[in-house]
Amino acid sequence: MSAKVDPGAMEVMTLGEVARWAGGRLEGGDPDQVIQKVVVDSRRLLEPGSLFVALEGPRFDGHAFVHQAFEQGAVAAMVHHGSRAEFGEGPLIRVSDTRAALQAVAAAWRARFDIPVVAITGSNGKTIVKDMLAKMLGATCTVHASPGSYNSQVGVPLSLLGIRSDHDVAIVEVGVSHRGDMARQVRMVRPTHGILTNIGSAHAAGLGDARGIAEEKSLLFQDLNEGHLVLSQDVQRQFSDLFHVKPRTYDQVSGDQQGRADVVARGVAARGAGWRFELAVRDLGSREIRLGVPGLHNVRNATAAAAMATLLGASLDEVARGLRRFELSEMRLEMHTTSAGITLINDTYNADPVSARAALEVLRNFSGGQRAVAIFGDMLDLGARAADAHRELGQAVARHRIDELFLVGEFAALMGEAAVAAGMSPERVHRAEHLEELHRMLERELSPGDVVLFKASRTVGLDRAARRLIESV
Ligand code: ATP
Ligand code: MG
Repeated sequence: MSAKVDPGAMEVMTLGEVARWAGGRLEGGDPDQVIQKVVVDSRRLLEPGSLFVALEGPRFDGHAFVHQAFEQGAVAAMVHHGSRAEFGEGPLIRVSDTRAALQAVAAAWRARFDIPVVAITGSNGKTIVKDMLAKMLGATCTVHASPGSYNSQVGVPLSLLGIRSDHDVAIVEVGVSHRGDMARQVRMVRPTHGILTNIGSAHAAGLGDARGIAEEKSLLFQDLNEGHLVLSQDVQRQFSDLFHVKPRTYDQVSGDQQGRADVVARGVAARGAGWRFELAVRDLGSREIRLGVPGLHNVRNATAAAAMATLLGASLDEVARGLRRFELSEMRLEMHTTSAGITLINDTYNADPVSARAALEVLRNFSGGQRAVAIFGDMLDLGARAADAHRELGQAVARHRIDELFLVGEFAALMGEAAVAAGMSPERVHRAEHLEELHRMLERELSPGDVVLFKASRTVGLDRAARRLIESV
C-alpha cells in the first residue's frame, strides 16, 4: 500500500508534485505517493519511497537500469526515452530531459525551506571547509551537508533534495567545470550565504584564466545580502570588482601581526601532525585552536569555515571544539603507517597544481629528517596549461628537496626532466610505465622510516596503488 500525505506532518514531496515540478507526465502510479528519496544509482538496495531518475551519461544510460531499480524497490522512475515494455510495471514520470528535470525538482524542493543555505565553491578545499563548518555548527544546529563531494550538475540537486524540515542550516558544495554551469547551479541552490575557498587552476580547461574562473564563481554570490559572503583577503584584493556585496574576509598572518581581515589565524605553529594557532574574530575576541590535520592550507580552510560559522552565530568555543573533532575524509592527506614502518600520505582524491604543491609542502614538513618520497601521476583537466603545470610541479619537487621521485603517466617524462633541470639528481627520478610496474618499484625501493606521498587526479587510479602498498609493506 502506498503511503499517503498526512497534512501537518513533516515536509514531504509526492509523485504528483514531482511530475509537475519536472514538467513531466505521470504514467501509472498514485499522485499522492510520498517520495522519500531521489536516487540515480539503481545498484544499491533502495530505501522505501525512492524515485529513480534515469540519467544518460557518456558511458552509461540509466534507462537500461529502470527495470533493476524497480526490482530494488523504487516506487517510480523518471525517464526521457524508451518504451513501457523495457521498464516493466512501475509508475513512470516522462520528461524531455531527466537531468534538467532533476534540477527543476531540486530547485522547487529547496524553495520550500526558509533556512540559511551556505554555498561553498572554489578550486580547492570545498569539501574540507564544508566538513569543518558542519562540525562547528553541529553542536547547536541540525545541519544538512552535501554528502562527500556532491558538487556537480547532478550532485548539487541530489544534495538539495536531502534537505528535511528538521534541518536548521544546509551546506552545499558547488562545482563548475564549464562556462554556464554556475548559472544553472545558482538557480537551484539560491544560496543565502557563500564561501569562496580559493581561485586555482582546477578545471581551467573549461573556464579560461584565473579571472575567468573567478568571474564564473562570483555568479554564485550575486544575490547575497551584505556581509553574507566569506572571501580570503587575497581574493578580495585581487577580484574585489567581481563581488557586489561587502565580504567578510579571512586571512593568515605571521607572528603576532594583527592583520586586517575580519577573521585571522596568527601565530601558526606545527604541533604533531597538525597545527596550533590563535584565531581572532572581529567583535568576538580570540581563541587558541588545535587542528589535528596536516597541511598549512587546512589552517586557511579552518579560518574560512570559522568566518562563516561565527557569522551564523557559532561561538568561539564551538568553533574550537568543532575543529578539535575534525578529521579528514578518505584520500585527502590520509596518513597511514605500514607494518614495515613506512608512512604513507594518501592524497589521491584529486590533483591540480595548487593542491599538488600544498601536498608537497606537507610531505616536506612531515618527513623531518626521514627520506621524503613523492609519487605523482598526471593532473588531468588542465587544458592548454597541462605541460607547463607538470613542468612547474617537477621544479617544485626539486625545490622542496624531495629525496626520491616516482612518476607514472603521460606527463611523467616532462615532470622528471623539469625536476632534473632544477637540480634533482637523475638517479633519484624513477619512471614507471604503468601502475603495476610502479608497485614493483616501490616494493623494491622503499624502506622503513620513509615518508611517501601519493598524489594524482582521481581517475589515474593511484589510490589503488596506495592501498595495495599499505597491504603489502
Ligand atoms: P573537488 O572539486 O575534487 O570536490 P574540493 O574543492 O572539495 O575538491 P577538497 O576535497 O577539500 O577540495 O581538497 C582537495 C585537495 O585540495 C586536497 O588534496 C587538499 O590537499 C587540497 N587543498 C585543500 N584545501 C586547499 C587550499 N585552501 N589551498 C590549496 N590546496 C588545498
Ligand atoms: Mg569536494
